[in-house]
Amino acid sequence: MSGCGRYAPTPSGDLHIGNLRTAVLAWAFARAGGSRFHLRMEDTERVVPGVAERQLRDLASLGIDWDGPVVSQRTRADAHARALETLVGEGLAYECYCTRKDIREAASAPHAQPGRYPGTCRDLTRADRERGRAKLARVGRQPALRLRADGVRWRIRDEIVGEVGGVVDDVVLRRGDGVVAYNLAVVLDDAWAGVTEVCRGDDLVSSALSQDYLADLLGLAPRVRYLHVPLVVNEEGRRLAKRDGAVTLDDLARCGWGVAEVMGAIGRSIGLEGVRHAEDVRDAITPELIRRHCAPWVFVPPVAASGD
Ligand code: GLU
Repeated sequence: MSGCGRYAPTPSGDLHIGNLRTAVLAWAFARAGGSRFHLRMEDTERVVPGVAERQLRDLASLGIDWDGPVVSQRTRADAHARALETLVGEGLAYECYCTRKDIREAASAPHAQPGRYPGTCRDLTRADRERGRAKLARVGRQPALRLRADGVRWRIRDEIVGEVGGVVDDVVLRRGDGVVAYNLAVVLDDAWAGVTEVCRGDDLVSSALSQDYLADLLGLAPRVRYLHVPLVVNEEGRRLAKRDGAVTLDDLARCGWGVAEVMGAIGRSIGLEGVRHAEDVRDAITPELIRRHCAPWVFVPPVAASGD
């Protein structure tokens, strides 16, 4: 096996059918291509005890299997710190003292680019930086580190979304609490695990631009194949969430949905009838199939039988 796909949940809440569908698609693409499948817990963010175990149980119960041990992102802290040092040493990172509120306010200024860091701390004087550090030290924080992308333009080709291009954002590399930020950790950890195929929700497609650029800066071969798949939404068209009702495997089981019903619904969401196992998706999946069903899937949760 030469290639490697992956799934990288954050263990902050049980997986809902939207998360599970993305995991099934990532697994199916990898296995259909004869690739390995890697599982990583992105536990540098908010971790809720017991959730990682339930996520693994739910993935396995749908027939998803993985190769090698599940990697905890926290255990990679030394490698993350070394990469940060390299980027700082090469002048590719700068300290940022902004609070969320500072960024919100600067981003609402007339010429700001929506969704992008407005550049407040990019070119500060030494005195400004000292003031910024002192301000944060008073509240027990350290500066965040941001990528000095210098307005570079970058392009990636995604097999579902198509060509994606634009200016690379000065993304956070290290958070104000000193922990490596998602955009850097994901790039380092995928490369370390030998990942060659990134299939995940299309809410992350704009992050892929910065991530691909970072991978290139850090000389991390091989370049990956991207497949950003449409999200699952509720009836109002908003990203599906726990509060929408019966959306986790446990909730769905209480409504009488077993694995076959869950897989059947996931199959229908990509135009496949009669799906009962993850293997049925694996045997039929192609980027073209997902492109044809590229509208978000609206999931209407079933209601538990009365008396439940
Ligand atoms: N940990 C992220 C999440 O749970 C996914 C990150 C990724 O796939 O790159 O949404």
